[in-house]
Amino acid sequence: MILHVQKKANLAALQDFYRAYAIEEKDYYVLITPSSLKEVDESHQADIIASFPMDSDIQLASRKYTYTTREIKFSDTLTIGGSTNHTMMITGPCSVESEEQIDQVAKFCVEQGVQVLRAGCYKPRTSPYTFQGLGHKGLILLAKMRDKYGLKIITEVKDATHVEDVIEFADIIQIGAKAMYDHGILRACSKIQKPIVLKRGFGSTLQEFVQSAEFILSGGNMNVALCERGIRTYETKTRFTLDLCGVAYLKEHTNLPIILDPSHAMGYAYGVADLTRACVAMGIDGLLIETHPDPSVAKSDASQQLNFEQFSALKNSLDKVAESVGRKMI
Ligand code: PEP
Ligand code: MN
Repeated sequence: MILHVQKKANLAALQDFYRAYAIEEKDYYVLITPSSLKEVDESHQADIIASFPMDSDIQLASRKYTYTTREIKFSDTLTIGGSTNHTMMITGPCSVESEEQIDQVAKFCVEQGVQVLRAGCYKPRTSPYTFQGLGHKGLILLAKMRDKYGLKIITEVKDATHVEDVIEFADIIQIGAKAMYDHGILRACSKIQKPIVLKRGFGSTLQEFVQSAEFILSGGNMNVALCERGIRTYETKTRFTLDLCGVAYLKEHTNLPIILDPSHAMGYAYGVADLTRACVAMGIDGLLIETHPDPSVAKSDASQQLNFEQFSALKNSLDKVAESVGRKMI
């Protein structure tokens, strides 16, 4: 249950009694108790301004609590959710590989009117023998691109050892699919106000996915976007299966902006453009597409990255699709 509590109430006692998280708003506290609580104790009634019983631990993220999609403001001119109808493009390579490579992509972003550059520095690879990312050096290169081109930078965190490093350097923190359950990361991201893109674990249910977001929200960071990036099914011809049914569920039931990543779902560049158009047609808030100056030599996810020509053709086709569902590409 979510409770709005008077400022004069004994907050610590209430938190203790209900095992609740507390967030301070201007005129009241928001207390979030386990959803199994359905009624407030008689003795506390006088402190409660409003109560919202919830049917599961999807609480702060639920449209039953706040109907309107939460707004995330990346800069004065870059906002998703809220009263906007924006679908924000994020692109860049899977990994930062060298200064030359990331500079080429950053310059390309500016030419394409893309305002957010993605690239991983700490890569969650499935083999220890493959490229693991440039780590801190990669973050420095990304920061350089931000300064040189005025782009926002999103990069992923894969475990709690470098979460502070990523938080310091990135404008937007991407929590990788394999890190969705990492509570060290979730808690660290809950204590800041920077926007978080939380990727869905490929073996996670929607309930588990949104509950991971609740770890961040309940700590006080409301700037969370959910990213569907494909789940594992019995199918082996594609890398994962993009769960568009799940996206429909999230749109209907949660108030968090939704970003779709067709690149990781598909695993092959040939399918990315069609899938991206399907994503835009779902009326979502953002896209995350992998683009590389020369995908054939990419050090990670080579098969799924678009080259500049492919990205540009795709981008040109999106305005009309967005317009047809009442949205605007930014
Ligand atoms: C990525 O964005 O490059 C990535 C590794 O994604 P995911 O965490 O979804 O696998
Ligand atoms: Mn990748």
